Amino acid sequence: MQRVRIRIKGIVQGVGFRPFVYNLAEKYGLRGFCMNDTEGVLIDVEGTDMEGFIGEIKRCHPPLARIESLSVERLEPATFSGFRIEESQTRTKRFPLIPPDVAICRECLGELFSREDRRYLYPFINCTDCGPRYSIIEDVPYDRERTTMRTFRMCEACHQEYHNPRDRRFHAQPNACWQCGPQVWLVDREGATLCEKKMAVEKARELIKEGAIVALKGLGGFHLVCDAENDEAVKTLRQRKHRPAKPLAVMSQNLETLRTYAEVSPTEERLLTSLESPIVLVRRLPRNPLSALVAPGMEILGVMLAYTPLHHLLTGGFRALVMTSGNIADEPIAISNEEALERLHSIADYFLLHNRPIHTRVDDSIVRVGKNRPIVLRRARGYTPHVVRIAQRGPELVAFGGEKKQSLTLVSSGYAIMSQHIGELSTVKTLEFLKESLEKLKRLFSVEPTVVVHDMHPHYLTTGFAKEYAREHSIEDARVIAAQHHHAHIASVMAEWGLEDELIGVSFDGTGYGTDGCVWGGEFMVATREDFTREAHLRYMPMPGGEKVIEEPWRMAASYLHAIHGERLEDWPAEFLERVGEKRVVAISKLIEHRINTPLTSSGGRLFDAVASITGLKDHVTFEGEAAMVLTELAEGEKEGGCYPFEIKENGTMEINTLPTVEAIAEEMKDGVPVSIISRRFHNTLVLMMVEVVDILCERTGIRDVVLSGGVFQNMLLLHGVVEGLKKMGLNVYHNQRFPINDGGLSLGQALIGLERARRG
Ligand code: ZN
Ligand code: ZN
Ligand code: FE
Repeated sequence: MQRVRIRIKGIVQGVGFRPFVYNLAEKYGLRGFCMNDTEGVLIDVEGTDMEGFIGEIKRCHPPLARIESLSVERLEPATFSGFRIEESQTRTKRFPLIPPDVAICRECLGELFSREDRRYLYPFINCTDCGPRYSIIEDVPYDRERTTMRTFRMCEACHQEYHNPRDRRFHAQPNACWQCGPQVWLVDREGATLCEKKMAVEKARELIKEGAIVALKGLGGFHLVCDAENDEAVKTLRQRKHRPAKPLAVMSQNLETLRTYAEVSPTEERLLTSLESPIVLVRRLPRNPLSALVAPGMEILGVMLAYTPLHHLLTGGFRALVMTSGNIADEPIAISNEEALERLHSIADYFLLHNRPIHTRVDDSIVRVGKNRPIVLRRARGYTPHVVRIAQRGPELVAFGGEKKQSLTLVSSGYAIMSQHIGELSTVKTLEFLKESLEKLKRLFSVEPTVVVHDMHPHYLTTGFAKEYAREHSIEDARVIAAQHHHAHIASVMAEWGLEDELIGVSFDGTGYGTDGCVWGGEFMVATREDFTREAHLRYMPMPGGEKVIEEPWRMAASYLHAIHGERLEDWPAEFLERVGEKRVVAISKLIEHRINTPLTSSGGRLFDAVASITGLKDHVTFEGEAAMVLTELAEGEKEGGCYPFEIKENGTMEINTLPTVEAIAEEMKDGVPVSIISRRFHNTLVLMMVEVVDILCERTGIRDVVLSGGVFQNMLLLHGVVEGLKKMGLNVYHNQRFPINDGGLSLGQALIGLERARRG
């Protein structure tokens, strides 16, 4: 007879771990108990076959569980009788891993549509393997009374399931049914109730069929919903939401339906049907029945499958529903009924509400597959709050990220805890969301930062907020660390892959503040976790009008053309002059010559903008990256080889002159070369250029590890080209996969930089 105490850390709460242990203990004839506490799961058992028992825990644990560590301590035999699951205990020091929200499982789906089941058509059916988690958890340990389900008293039948270790709803914290659980109802935009329960879902479907826009309270927030096949409805939604062009995500009930309008590879299928159930960017079929307004001018479409029971009830009978975030412009998505009615009443005709409160706002995640490898572009529902170990130890720290696609990262005991996607920090409401997320994560993970990291940009809202935070929490200046934007991008890959040595970093993106005060974004560096040296960058170009160039790519085109041809307008491409107008071109030339509101940039994103405008594709855009997306889609269908010239100048740091590239492109436009071929050659040029510069740096330094990061690498054609090129040279290449390659991943990199610098002192 032996007695052991087993401590298991990891994602072990709210994933069916205790019933699993219960059944296993029974199988091995063990006596004792197990319970959740603030560190994970604690098992105290006695019996004979401990090895078999522990082995099976490691091998056969529930699908949602993730064991980070399992330690065994031998104890004096006790006199347990039988095996019990004990109540959770709260203790002071804690570092729990909190389960993310999980898409509905097969069993629950079966019951949802089975007439005999007592939960037939119940919109909140869930079990130990599926349902809401992170979005409803208010505190740890994860138990019903610390979730937003605590106000619902379970009926007798639910109570039985909840307490029966052999039931698949044993300790399913959000367990509920028609009798005792949350309900839905439908209201009009004045808030008057139209109908409830089954009728409400039925009516909502009818209204959507007729072309209405419905605000739907989902898992992590509100969605705006309309029929994706209805041109008029999609058009109205776009007008009311002031979102003229940015693609809208759509949702279908199942893969079969989805395949009637989109191409889905095996890897994409796996992602779509995964527990995380993200939006996946797929290629739409050439001729398809969805409204062209869903993603105007784009071949890539954001699709997802119904991931809650309510979605399943709503999507049935539709090919696809538009499911876009329930917000206005850049504000965070609404989560409470009142908030939705107030903020969305000018957009939605009806509101499908429910009374299970959302504690934490979580948007849909976005993933793209390139060469069979998924790359997370927006990290939120399903992925948050997974943690990663980035160091052995270190102080508790907070990193505030950038400004676009903002996220924040906390560090405790060397673990990085990244928040969900917070959004564009351009409104007061987003800043509030940031503060709220910080406080919630600090509480859940019991972290009290003593080090603060922010972007080097002096005017980012997060920079100001970080400094304010440090003041309020009496954190001395020496522990407030500014991380350079592109170094943070590179460090995010080091954190993700556990890279410790000096390496070569290539960071191409839109905008990032450089150490010389210029706008960087086409950078090659030799980097460590602490620091970097800038080894090469794209030639500095004027940005006439400053930030304005982001919305007006023609300004960057004019900047390049001005650098090439000066004021000899007769040499400028005639089509460009015609579209933009000579007057404006002359005016912009003045701005450039006198350096009025014209900072300098080495941004790769801006080079894409210039090329998109010169090729006549986009002179104006409504979101950053739009021009590049259109350009890349054209290139993807093209096999044409060839490259344009560029120059590498040695000048202390290397400078890559792209004027010959742009000049050649303008020439080919004049000669009538198809834009798709030009775009392909432009991509080839960038690939060749990056590979060549890295080759030079490898030669000089002897380094063999290369890291790629930054928003421009969301471009799969470019990313693959560069990865392949570098691998051919026998180099080790890394880029972000589980964390965003765009600014959404910055805070992770900042956290690593901050940790290393704080350790060094
Ligand atoms: Zn289930
Ligand atoms: Zn019930
Ligand atoms: Fe960036």
